[in-house]
Amino acid sequence: MQKLVFNFKSKESKKIKNPKIFLGGKGSNLAEMVKIGLPVPPGFTISTKVCDLFYKNKKKLNSKIVKDIKKELKFIEKETGKKFGDLQSPLLVSVRSGARVSMPGMMDTILNLGLNDKTVLALANKTSNMRFAKDSYRRFIQLFGKVVFGVNDEKFDHVLDSAKNKQGVTDDSKLNVESLKKIVSEYKKICEDYTKRKFPDTPNEQLGLAIEAVFKSWMGERAVVYREKNGITKDIANGTAVNVVTMVFGNMGDDSATGVVFTRNGHNGKREIEGEYLINAQGEDVVAGVRTGKNVDLLKKEMPKSHKELSNACAKLEKHFREPQDIEFTIEQGKFYLLQTRTAKMSAGALIKTSVDMVKEKLIDKNRALTRIPAQQLEALLHRTMDESKIKDHKQLAKGIAASPGAASGIAIFNVKEAIELGESGKKVILVRKETKPEDVPAFFSAEGILTSLGGKSSHAAIVSRGMGKPCIVGCAELKINYDNNTCTANGITIKEGDTISIDGSAGTVYIGEVPTVEPKVTKDFQTILGWAQNTKQLGIRANADTPDAAKLARQYGAQGIGLCRTERMFNETDRIGLFVEMIMAQSPEERNQVLKKLQELQKSDFIGILKEMEGYKVTIRLLDPPLHEFLPNPEELKDKMIKENDNSEKTQRVLDRARELAEINPMMGHRGVRVAITYPEIYKMQITAVFEAAAELAKKKVNAKPQIMIPQVGSLAELNYIKSIYDDVKKQMEQKYKKKFKINFGTMLEVVRACLTSDELANTAEFFSFGTNDLTQAVFSFSREDAEGKFLPEYMEKELLEISPFQSIDVNGVGHLMRIGIKQGRNIKKDLEIGICGEHGGDPNSIKFCHSVDVSYVSASPHRIPIAIVAAAQATIEQKKSKKKSRK
Ligand code: ADP
Ligand code: MG
Ligand code: MG
Repeated sequence: MQKLVFNFKSKESKKIKNPKIFLGGKGSNLAEMVKIGLPVPPGFTISTKVCDLFYKNKKKLNSKIVKDIKKELKFIEKETGKKFGDLQSPLLVSVRSGARVSMPGMMDTILNLGLNDKTVLALANKTSNMRFAKDSYRRFIQLFGKVVFGVNDEKFDHVLDSAKNKQGVTDDSKLNVESLKKIVSEYKKICEDYTKRKFPDTPNEQLGLAIEAVFKSWMGERAVVYREKNGITKDIANGTAVNVVTMVFGNMGDDSATGVVFTRNGHNGKREIEGEYLINAQGEDVVAGVRTGKNVDLLKKEMPKSHKELSNACAKLEKHFREPQDIEFTIEQGKFYLLQTRTAKMSAGALIKTSVDMVKEKLIDKNRALTRIPAQQLEALLHRTMDESKIKDHKQLAKGIAASPGAASGIAIFNVKEAIELGESGKKVILVRKETKPEDVPAFFSAEGILTSLGGKSSHAAIVSRGMGKPCIVGCAELKINYDNNTCTANGITIKEGDTISIDGSAGTVYIGEVPTVEPKVTKDFQTILGWAQNTKQLGIRANADTPDAAKLARQYGAQGIGLCRTERMFNETDRIGLFVEMIMAQSPEERNQVLKKLQELQKSDFIGILKEMEGYKVTIRLLDPPLHEFLPNPEELKDKMIKENDNSEKTQRVLDRARELAEINPMMGHRGVRVAITYPEIYKMQITAVFEAAAELAKKKVNAKPQIMIPQVGSLAELNYIKSIYDDVKKQMEQKYKKKFKINFGTMLEVVRACLTSDELANTAEFFSFGTNDLTQAVFSFSREDAEGKFLPEYMEKELLEISPFQSIDVNGVGHLMRIGIKQGRNIKKDLEIGICGEHGGDPNSIKFCHSVDVSYVSASPHRIPIAIVAAAQATIEQKKSKKKSRK
């Protein structure tokens, strides 16, 4: 039979393939620490496999395993020279849970096991310290009662509090022997009343019960819900291990202590030990916050020798694990021990700094430096943040769950309709609600940020805000919202409708008044990381940018080209919308052409601006995509306005008629993109001419401009060829006019299902493809995005029908499958066909990894997500190389 119980020193545990899965995170790291010579108290690990067997064996340990445990215990007894239940030198152990992934606060640990009314006296004798012995005993009974019997902690706390009161102390380390004796007997009585049995007093029985209780806690409601919520499935972690560890005592007096530290600062990444410790205390005191810990810097003065050992251990651990560590230590009468280590969880900024530093220190190589940073986490660094120096001038009102990053200020508005009206009128609004519903979505657009008192990270408000990139805090329970008088109250402060508040969606904090914000800045270390990523990645990274400013920002962030420049955004500028409407209203082709000439000049200057900013890189210009009615007023609203303002003019009437004529039932699938150009070819002709004219002018100025023209919504070769002939005509004319050859690529989007399916046909005409994954996702799911995101998608996610919105991360099996077809067929015709994607997915790390795997040429993302895209693309390259190497082995 397979070995299932391993001493920390066991050589066999080295041969285990996946030690974290088999021994749990805590157990496998304890064994590793022993192997590299760090001071860990003797102990052993019962494998996670035993947890599985335990459940298969009607929640009983089988006799073979009980035998193995006894054998390992003997081994410890030999090593420590102590014995379970001995009346000279009793052995005490801790029984600790530890699954593959850490589940903070979900699973249990029992300390000081092995104590009973006799051994406690032996312990007191041996140490000449009755206080310490009794203190350890009361801790044991409380933990055992809670973990094994399920006694409510409050019962024990109540006894402890009244003993402290009686003795007139506030600190439990000040309790005297008398008080502790009383506490012990009352604790025992609590357990015995609760279980109606005698408190188990043989160490062997205690150990058996404790091990079983830890295994049982794996299926406890708390743990099960936690795993569900955090997506910890059976193949990630199946069962907990149990670690039995010789007790070392931080509560043996003032030369003893216990603490928790990070080997580097978790907030800013600085190379300094950061954390807290307590003198004369046991492990759980620091975490539970029974007493406030002292800053670890003080340890240097209080226990210089131990501090030195601690910092040596930190260095050794980092060198071994090649990651900053989060560790637990205990000092017993001046002797230093380590009790746990794991990878430290750090902020995005700290991850970046430590990555750069550790490469400099030669702890890790650049590939590891890049892959250890979750690309998604970088988002927090690319949003507006509160000006740190100004926060102190503002009172914190409340704290909730950080649901969508970024900082925002505005007036608190509790009513959805009002939030929309005020927002649209240009006021900065923070929408404050108990919770939000689909019909509230329009208010999200007009608000600067959203604050709710209910809900968690997957609540409607959280999901919609993240999708829109709006700062959001949810579950701010201390905030009591009153809709009757439009106020909210927290910590005794009441905010009325119209009062200014500020929210920090990255921290979850709400402040009173307007906290100034600062633009995100890319630190030197961040730039270093981006540089490494640039040199590693294979995917091209371009930007979705419609203005010279956006192009400039994208380039600063490292974009190499524009994958999507939406020309219609330009028509919406205030100085052109009038002209564009005139064009739509034109009653004859001549009239239309008159207006188009003016528009052509404007577009030309737009293109020149953007092409200049992206000099040397390709700029893909997409011709007009939305339906024409989007540029006209909504007919119903216009009619209302006409009545209200008593407007009977013929001109307004004509606009109304035209708006009615152009209105559509389902605009997403209506008269848009190439379909508009088939009805009004002169619009695309104007745009194509403007691109050529811009290129001609830049060529004269020796600017290396590389525009390419992209046609949206194409579903068939016939459509594409229809536009191609317009392009060919313009090209011929321009080449005659300027007496030079132009190289302006002509390509198509693949965003209609039929286009993907017939990409081999399209590739005959198209010189490049670009997947419009937003529209493609809508088409593949038959979801209209606005309806889906506003109405039912949050529910799909709450009910776990979808893990993540397909508008956020590419649906690999559906949309991804179509992409594979489109790519394969297209490259069958043109081997080196450039194929990109320009949906919002271009900035999503998982989508980027997928794109890398199917050989997309580049992804295009919004300027603020360019750094994320660059890092994710580098990670994709590194991971693919690694897995190729593995499969070759
Ligand atoms: P958790 O997983 O909740 O951190 P642990 O098993 O690490 O639980 O134990 C809780 C606390 O008890 C920690 O502070 C740990 O350092 C301490 N502890 C555990 N085992 C021992 C031991 N054998 N001697 C001293 N302290 C211990
Ligand atoms: Mg721990
Ligand atoms: Mg589209």
